[in-house]
Amino acid sequence: MTQRRLLSNNNFKGKKTTTTTLLVLTIDQFVFDGCDNCEPYLQLKGNKDLVYDCTSSNFDGVVSMMSPDDSWVAKWQRINRFKPGCYAISTTGRLPPSIVRELKTHGITYRSRDTSQKT
Ligand SMILES: [Zn+2]
Repeated sequence: MTQRRLLSNNNFKGKKTTTTTLLVLTIDQFVFDGCDNCEPYLQLKGNKDLVYDCTSSNFDGVVSMMSPDDSWVAKWQRINRFKPGCYAISTTGRLPPSIVRELKTHGITYRSRDTSQKT
């Protein structure tokens, strides 16, 4: 499992994760490059307001995924179809309702990654 490395949150100060796919980047990276996975439907690139709306700095644990195809963590996290990168394990952030509606028009059902509400 060399591709799996658990890192402490302290390494990710100032970073954010999209609440849809949990990719972890800095705000600047989201603004300049967008989210590798969300970009086709969220279009975060160049839209700082949207980046703030769609991302959360409140997340738990990070896994770095190098080879999505043979990583059990990727399968477990249901991120094995996403691009290699750093992913949060969970986030308490949620998408604003207007963006959830927007995603629906693209045929995408938003599944919250917020695990803090489960009892
Ligand atoms: Zn994303």
